[in-house]
Amino acid sequence: MIVVIIGASFAGVAAALEVRKKQSNAEIILLEKQPTLGYIPNGLHLYWENKIANLGAAYFITKEQLEKQNIQCYLEAAVEKIDSIHRTINYLQHGKEETISYDKLIIATGSSQLSQKISGSDGENVLKYKRHHEAEDALSKIDASKSVTIIGGGQVGVEAADLLSKQQKHVTLIENMDYVLFKYFDKEMIQPLQQKMLEQGIDLRLNQTASSIEAEDQPVTIRFGNEMVKSDAVILGVNVRPDLHFLDEHIRLHMDQTIAVDRYMRTSVEDVFAVGDCIQLTFGEDDETVYIPLVNNAVRTGIVAAANLIQPKMVFKGSLRTIGTFIFGYYIASTGITEAESLFTNQKVETYRQEVLLTSLPNSATVTIKWVYDATSHTLLGAQMISTSDILEKINTLALAIQTKQTLEDLQQKDYFFHPSFTQMISATNFVSWPEVRDDGNEN
Ligand SMILES: Cc1cc2nc3c(=O)[nH]c(=O)nc-3n(C[C@H](O)[C@H](O)[C@H](O)COP(=O)(O)OP(=O)(O)OC[C@H]3O[C@@H](n4cnc5c(N)ncnc54)[C@H](O)[C@@H]3O)c2cc1C
Repeated sequence: MIVVIIGASFAGVAAALEVRKKQSNAEIILLEKQPTLGYIPNGLHLYWENKIANLGAAYFITKEQLEKQNIQCYLEAAVEKIDSIHRTINYLQHGKEETISYDKLIIATGSSQLSQKISGSDGENVLKYKRHHEAEDALSKIDASKSVTIIGGGQVGVEAADLLSKQQKHVTLIENMDYVLFKYFDKEMIQPLQQKMLEQGIDLRLNQTASSIEAEDQPVTIRFGNEMVKSDAVILGVNVRPDLHFLDEHIRLHMDQTIAVDRYMRTSVEDVFAVGDCIQLTFGEDDETVYIPLVNNAVRTGIVAAANLIQPKMVFKGSLRTIGTFIFGYYIASTGITEAESLFTNQKVETYRQEVLLTSLPNSATVTIKWVYDATSHTLLGAQMISTSDILEKINTLALAIQTKQTLEDLQQKDYFFHPSFTQMISATNFVSWPEVRDDGNEN
């Protein structure tokens, strides 16, 4: 059996390793258009944080490690066309067109930082850094810049703002919502961090939509509304999008040009699977699908596709869009739905926000937690946290609580360890006030 996987990043590599585990005789071929594989997209952030000495260290796997597992890697092999009827793939390698046949195909071509709405955003001087060569280029251009404008106040944009302001760059951040990180947090939860951004001199332009970038001249001009800002460099931190120009018409797409798959990662064509950033996923237990481009989703969908190659055996359990990071002095984490997006569900949702001491020690740090839960059953639907202490791992507990449909009452009974140096008498994730008995701490 020949299994061809297009795209050798998180999703493609996870799929390849899992296929190897399950099908010891399969011929596995990874096709990757870049000259290298396994680059970590925020490698540049790791470098700026001095966690790695150079971008060459920002790799999670090498070609040699894959080849040791008898997985063939064709690098600089850019797929141009798939014929899903005749089961062939055409790709360009070193200027030559090649054709390969498959029995099973996994499409893992991911996404790029693209914007169709901002004119000039595809210009060479508009910096992105998801790929290694883009990051090298961005690094030298940013090194030579005193002022940088970032378009997009999502996780990538806000992390970049933090790291660049530490390098004494003058940072402008343009965001079209009225607060940053809106996908993961409700407005009031992120205010302390936003305040810190302002204190650290970030020129925050909220409620502003970037419309054009003129990047041929120095400084670069970025226009938004009736205003404009000039800076030495501009970073595109907007949503990523897939580029699937090579598909034939038999593979069904969603309106947003992502590939439609079922819960087994099967596309509309037999023996063709799609995984990672080029698909939409089920969000929680709902059947409704959403675009959630995150590494964990890429890896898990890759594993699920590999498990279902021969027969549909393993259902993808959905994503909770779990994230965690440290920015502007705050550890922030989120999983499940926010209160803002709960308005778009059919459920009656309640929320509760509380501040909890993290340890029993004097001067213990606190964490602010927001619980989003079903008003009738009290089943947990979402949680957000912000603290100056590292609470990131707690979000994984709460993600598990959502996946296993725990109620707030179940959480109060959750078994946990006590140690005065590390926990409070009641642990942060146990300390859920009963909605009916809590005092007037409920601000909603
Ligand atoms: C700057 C940045 C930082 C991020 N940080 C995080 C983070 O901290 N945590 C997190 O969860 N997520 C993060 N993400 C999102 C994360 O990068 C993606 O979810 C993840 O990379 C998706 O993996 P993937 O394998 O589906 O696709 P990708 O990583 O996009 O990989 C797709 C691969 O397919 C190849 N390819 C594409 N087209 C073709 C073709 N036609 N022929 C051959 N090969 C092709 C590409 O070269 C690429 O190697 C970040 C994203 C960005 C942009």
